[in-house]
Amino acid sequence: MSRLYHYVGPLQILKDVQNQPMGTILRSTQDIRAWMQAHQIHPDIDNCITVTFTVTPSHQFLIADRHSEHVACAAGGPVLAAGEATFELTSQIQLIDISNQSTGFCPEPDCWLEVQVALEKARIPHPGRFTRSFMFRLCTHCGQRNLIKEQWFECAVCSQDLPLHWNFTPTETSSA
Ligand SMILES: [Zn+2]
Repeated sequence: MSRLYHYVGPLQILKDVQNQPMGTILRSTQDIRAWMQAHQIHPDIDNCITVTFTVTPSHQFLIADRHSEHVACAAGGPVLAAGEATFELTSQIQLIDISNQSTGFCPEPDCWLEVQVALEKARIPHPGRFTRSFMFRLCTHCGQRNLIKEQWFECAVCSQDLPLHWNFTPTETSSA
């Protein structure tokens, strides 16, 4: 069953991005070139671009500049998935690297299934999995959002044990 991820990051970021444009929907790989042109984005030295992406509840694949917050790309959310994607701009645009790295939504690695649906909807060939995947846990002791490294479930800030199960709750926005 799909899980909808709500924004779990700092409230201040949510406020800061409120007037930023949402991400661009990819309906084909060619939309990437149009997006680059429109946003004056140039490939890196390896002829690649890395972008921020989010997947809407209706499986639209949205991209934004890699320095954008995921929550801005997602127009506040919620999302089915979020992360970073790298495309190689050969004659055919190739998706060569994709991850669930998003500290704004902290999605579980199994959100790949939703990413896959969104990519296939846009007819974008994909590697069949996240090429890099991460687990995120909230420290219930100090509130730090942790990225788990090598199955080490310990808070990077206060060293308390982290829960084995995903444990985020949406950022409280009632005061926004
Ligand atoms: Zn902690």
